[in-house]
Amino acid sequence: MKTIGSVSGLQEALGAEKGRSIGFVPTMGALHAGHISLVERARKENDVVVVSIFVNPSQFNDPNDLLSYPRTPEQDVRMLEQAGADIVFIPGVEEVYPEPDNRRFDFGLLDKVMEGATRPGHFNGVAQVVSRLFELVRPHRTYFGDKDFQQIAVVRELVRQLRFGLEIVECPMVREGDGLAMSSRNALLEPEYRAVAPQIYRALVKARSAAGTVSVGELERQAVEDIEAGGLLKVIYFYVVDPRTLEHVSDWDKRRGRHACVAVQAGNVRLIDNMRLM
Ligand code: AMP
Repeated sequence: MKTIGSVSGLQEALGAEKGRSIGFVPTMGALHAGHISLVERARKENDVVVVSIFVNPSQFNDPNDLLSYPRTPEQDVRMLEQAGADIVFIPGVEEVYPEPDNRRFDFGLLDKVMEGATRPGHFNGVAQVVSRLFELVRPHRTYFGDKDFQQIAVVRELVRQLRFGLEIVECPMVREGDGLAMSSRNALLEPEYRAVAPQIYRALVKARSAAGTVSVGELERQAVEDIEAGGLLKVIYFYVVDPRTLEHVSDWDKRRGRHACVAVQAGNVRLIDNMRLM
């Protein structure tokens, strides 16, 4: 496995792989089993597996969140070596953005609701870094986790608009034994918040079994109450949405499908989760 920090080094390494299929997994590091599941899938489906580790400043709307974001590069490299990655790209900010990136994307509703509404500029930053990384790596397939359900919708639209001509492989979410969605940010949870965080998963499972039997509004109210029980967790939003448009809906529709998306404040840590309801 090659660990590379510069764009020129990356181009040289990729130049040696001409004609082979490239699977790409973009990450922000502090890797866990969720990330590794993406790398393993990419390993099965491609000749060459490229993983990037880059904490992208332009997608952080909160400077403290950027500063406190966990960083474990040595451990990440060991995990990737074991998972069979070929190239790990760990660039500095000036390698990814040699000039300031002032592009403004328009994704319609997709980046205006939920995470987009509560983290202004977040998805514009995601689109900047993902498009830049796609240009550098030129992958045939790229792997994203449905832990970040809205991000996948935005990246699909980005790929369509910029005509990247690559396949987006959507990978299932990996959870802790108690149901908490794996996330790099979980390491920042104070023990008291970590103890109650699985209430999010339990509320989603309960919502899934209630879907279609109570009104959408009632289901959302109940889920918020379940998550906030005990008074530590604070729901930022809990919405039942159309899985394709991400529109907040008020009715059940088995044919179009229905998805629950939730963001929760757990002390200083913001957690997200989602689940298909029908
Ligand atoms: P991040 O490092 O948080 O930017 O995530 C990098 C990629 O890993 C994204 O495609 C995420 O959706 C994916 N990912 C993060 N957490 C999980 C998880 N628990 N299960 C599956 N994929 C995940």
